[in-house]
Amino acid sequence: MMTGARETSSALGHSPSATKMSARIPASTATPNTTLAVVREDVIRCVLCPRLRSYCQRIARDKKAAHRDEAYWGRPVPGFGDPQGRVLIVGLAPAAHGANRTGRVFTGDGSGDFLMRALHANGFANIATSRHADDGLALRDAYILAVVRCAPPDNKPTPKEIARCRVHLRAELSALPHIAVVVALGRIAWDGYLAYRREEDARHESMGKTPTGKVAATTPRGPKPAFGHGAVFRPGTALPILLGSYHPSRQNTNTGRLTPGMLDEIFARARRLATEPA
Ligand code: SF4
Repeated sequence: MMTGARETSSALGHSPSATKMSARIPASTATPNTTLAVVREDVIRCVLCPRLRSYCQRIARDKKAAHRDEAYWGRPVPGFGDPQGRVLIVGLAPAAHGANRTGRVFTGDGSGDFLMRALHANGFANIATSRHADDGLALRDAYILAVVRCAPPDNKPTPKEIARCRVHLRAELSALPHIAVVVALGRIAWDGYLAYRREEDARHESMGKTPTGKVAATTPRGPKPAFGHGAVFRPGTALPILLGSYHPSRQNTNTGRLTPGMLDEIFARARRLATEPA
């Protein structure tokens, strides 16, 4: 697991899980002793990016006027959802006054509500809003995480910070055994997931086999698949299908670049893709 210095932390709860099986193999080679609880603790305690850690702590101390009476989370934010889920939703990073405040990914801001309405409409969430960590929200057959776990200034992590945080993407994916479809919310999430895949391929090639003794599935070589809303990348092997979507940021939703109907269709499609035979 991760070896960086750590902060004091507390873990968040998990949602109830469904028991559905994927026709595809895991997004990453499962490591039997890797559990989501351990991964979550490693994420929460991580201090690998001094710029981001200090920014999150400053935001948590200064607060926004509307939330001045609340205790901000202020730490890295782990993933959230159904550990048995087939659909993985990959976002960019926590929002300074959203997940950095509430401690749950896509929670406490307009993006979270916009996303949750679409997930609820497609049966992936039990309620249509995402307001705070104790609001009763539970995901079914879906899990959400971000390529960067600490809120970045201006929502812009550096390439080094994105690369550094892949240690957590890898660890969390290895603890999610049934992912069949990855929905990337925005280009950075799309590129971040593909970078993870490339690293996995290189690792498997150097080993020849997975730790379980099976020959690892690898992503086809060639030009990087282009991101777009509704873009689909089918690795052509038993790996998860990648589906692109515009990010539900205010910049996109307020301008109509991403409408509720467009996001509904993404998750309807994700459900269809998750049931495709490998
Ligand atoms: S962005 Fe990721 S790697 Fe960097 S400090 Fe936060 S959790 Fe750690």
